[in-house]
Amino acid sequence: MREQRILKRLNVTLTLQLSVIFIITAILLFTVTYILLSTSLKRKDHDDLRMKYLEIWAQYQTGGLSLIQREIVTDELLGSRELFFVRITDPRLAQLFFVYPQRWNRYDYQQLDLLHSQTEDTVLKLQSEHYSYKLEVIAAKLYDGNLLQVGISTENRELFLKRYRSIFASLLFLLILFSFIAGLYSAFRSLRPIHNLTATVRAIIDTGRMDSRLTPRGTGDELDVLILLFNEMLDKIDSLIGRMREALDNVAHDLRTPLTRFRGTAEIALQTARTEKDYRESLIGCLEESEKILTILKTLTDISEAETGAMHLDKETVDISRLFAEVLDLYAYVAEEKRVALRSSLHENLTAEIDPNRIRQAIGNIVDNAIKYTPDGGSVQLKAYRDDGEIVIRILDTGIGISTDDLPNIWDRLYRGTRGRTEPGLGLGLSLVKAYVEAHGGRVTVTSHPGEGSEFAIALPA
Ligand code: ADP
Repeated sequence: MREQRILKRLNVTLTLQLSVIFIITAILLFTVTYILLSTSLKRKDHDDLRMKYLEIWAQYQTGGLSLIQREIVTDELLGSRELFFVRITDPRLAQLFFVYPQRWNRYDYQQLDLLHSQTEDTVLKLQSEHYSYKLEVIAAKLYDGNLLQVGISTENRELFLKRYRSIFASLLFLLILFSFIAGLYSAFRSLRPIHNLTATVRAIIDTGRMDSRLTPRGTGDELDVLILLFNEMLDKIDSLIGRMREALDNVAHDLRTPLTRFRGTAEIALQTARTEKDYRESLIGCLEESEKILTILKTLTDISEAETGAMHLDKETVDISRLFAEVLDLYAYVAEEKRVALRSSLHENLTAEIDPNRIRQAIGNIVDNAIKYTPDGGSVQLKAYRDDGEIVIRILDTGIGISTDDLPNIWDRLYRGTRGRTEPGLGLGLSLVKAYVEAHGGRVTVTSHPGEGSEFAIALPA
């Protein structure tokens, strides 16, 4: 699969990056230690050389050339592990004394004559075609004008550094192998949650099942946060899909009744109607049913439009008392039929910038419910006042109330409470109220006590 290939490529890239970083770090570390080691070995060689020089200088001072001959030649020089050569010339560079280890005999000692006027700070390097290592020499005048030259070989330190280099070269191979394995492991570990994530998403795409979830690793890092967010997103999508499915079922169910009636009326008319009056009555029945179907569809599109912000609002400055009067006028008859007292009270000069048709319909829907869900002898009251820069409209009833289970859901499309199912309705009234009010930048709230009554409030920006 494509994402598997991409992940594999990512894995290889990460592994290579990690091992390259590892190897570069190792090489850097080696280079730094190598430079430090080589300079300190060099410094130590030069210190030794100067010590030797001073020693011979002191011997010459006390016993002259003969003492040096005795001391150096017999024991120390040929017997010591660190080897030196010593050369003494007269001021015209005629050689008076020269002793060096036997195996250094293939150096071009002629060059030593170039080092006649130097002080002990300058180090001359003697090279040989036969040896890879050099001789380092310092020189200075003795008290009687003769010249003392002392030399040491770089052999020991070069051998040591060579061994160090070859050990590192063989280690480097192991290091590359190890860094690749470590990189592979580390890349695998850090990509594993992403692998799981991909597999889960793939499972959801392939099976269409939204109940798969990822298990957080409990590390609390960025990936865990991503996993938690991903699960949360799946929950949300799952519940949304569930609600959409439910809403679709409800719409199908609610459309089926008027459509069946529509069809029934037409069928009966075709089978039994004789006179023009019969046909006319059947057609009126059909019209009524189609009207119901259209209302359901129109309400659904209105809610969608208001919720997505696509609804056009014809806003104007509206006197709330005018709206109240129109609503009371519209519902006076129904309230009277049901013997429910419908009253209103409001502050003076309450105006708001609103679309009067939409807000009238919102208030109307709440009043319609209030009358519908209030038994005979009850009352429905409308109030309006200004509060903290908002216009608040309250609709109170003494009806059956809403159970705490229903309360959070009553604003959902096509939701019908458990207690009022016997009353006619589609479960769209309050969704429309919420959508219209929120399209105005307002809020709707409800408090209810089952058996005592409910109170709906609309708050609109003044
Ligand atoms: P319906 O068409 O069912 O009235 P609504 O969206 O208008 O749909 O209301 C949703 C549900 O809220 C109703 O089914 C009912 O259970 C509950 N409800 C709304 N208003 C009231 C009220 N004033 N008193 C009691 N229950 C109410």
